[in-house]
Amino acid sequence: MIQAIVGANWGDEGKGKITDVLAQDADYVVRFQGGGNAGHTIKNEYGKFALHLLPSGIFNQKTVSILGNGVAVNAPKLIEEIESIERAGVPHGQILVSDRAMVVMSYHILLDTYEEERLAGRSFGSTKSGIAPCFSDKFAKIGFQVCELYMDEEPLRERVRNVCTIKNALLGGLYNKPLLDEEEIYNELKSYAEMLRPYVAHTSVILNQAAREGKRILLEGQLGTLKDTDHGIYPMVTSSSTLAGYGAVGAGVPVTEIRDVICVVKAYSSAVGAGAFVTEFFGDAAVELRNRGGDGGEYGATTGRPRRVGAFDAVATRYGCMMQGATEVALTVVDVLGYMDEIPICVGYEIDGAVTRDFPNTPVLERAKPVYEMMPGWKCDIRGIRSFDALPQECQNYIRKIEQEIGVRISMVSNGPAREDIIYV
Ligand code: GDP
Repeated sequence: MIQAIVGANWGDEGKGKITDVLAQDADYVVRFQGGGNAGHTIKNEYGKFALHLLPSGIFNQKTVSILGNGVAVNAPKLIEEIESIERAGVPHGQILVSDRAMVVMSYHILLDTYEEERLAGRSFGSTKSGIAPCFSDKFAKIGFQVCELYMDEEPLRERVRNVCTIKNALLGGLYNKPLLDEEEIYNELKSYAEMLRPYVAHTSVILNQAAREGKRILLEGQLGTLKDTDHGIYPMVTSSSTLAGYGAVGAGVPVTEIRDVICVVKAYSSAVGAGAFVTEFFGDAAVELRNRGGDGGEYGATTGRPRRVGAFDAVATRYGCMMQGATEVALTVVDVLGYMDEIPICVGYEIDGAVTRDFPNTPVLERAKPVYEMMPGWKCDIRGIRSFDALPQECQNYIRKIEQEIGVRISMVSNGPAREDIIYV
């Protein structure tokens, strides 16, 4: 049985925590897209960890953690992450990297950085981890799959020569920056070959076999629907699909085996980077929610950048759940809203004088204004509560209202960052 844990919003919904909770009895946890450009924060008995590449199942010794073929792997960063966990004394399970995953090269990071510099104020807010250039090369068929790190010398050097010709035209012509040296790039590939060697495997065969044997497999998404390359707020999106459906491709498992799609929904909105954000708060309201949000404030796990925050957006979230094919919802960070007298929920968008409940394409979204309904706040701390019925009535009403708006059953409510802070509804 394969379950996907994916985000309905702009990312940072708390997928890491939900995966960590569900990974307790999972045999495999698989990252199927993205790279080290976003992070999950997990708090458990070993401490607080910001994971960028490793799946959130890493804290369970019995669970095999897999970086699937859909992932962009930065080898030095992966090794650093494994070492940081080992330094903290965390006993972890086996780690495998798909032989078909893409390799992030140093020039991807440089090109990402130079492009952000070139765009200056018009930038996309890239984390400069080289993910967009890496996935661009994947589709231009000039990237390197992990398995290619072990190719014979001459054909690999030939590939390097070709890549350097293309990249140097860009580096010299567009960015006016130092050119790549073929020997250095070849040596970089060989050093990554050694770093990754203990982990490389034909992971889709392993996962298909596991699925046939009825093992429990979790697919862990990064970011959320609204950052999906196709269905998100293009072009302010990420460079790989964030949808559960892509889990079949990015992990190499049968699409028909993905029976359960747990969509993680945040009780308010947060987003990083540029792009339309209809329910955004500004001024003091934004500062207060940002500082109270998540665990110790809404600041990026990878970059430390302050996140944009705002009210719960039922239009975006309903669409987010629909595109994920959500079968159930985990509603997170509900505890954070305990300070508000009244809590706005955006139930429609006013666009050119008409109100719609359908999430539009990006140019139209830029013109959308929120239509709010106000819900009474519960004005107390709900952390530590372990049953739905024990939540204050106003809080139950807020959760039920969200459920009604998005049309998907809320099966879990997260009321704190820790593993135990979870209410099964
Ligand atoms: P992810 O990328 O979707 O895994 O989300 P992040 O890890 O970037 O952001 C979630 C943040 O919220 C982390 O700091 C979590 O520890 C924290 N968090 C998760 N669930 C809850 C919750 O229910 N309440 C509070 N207060 N924090 C939470």
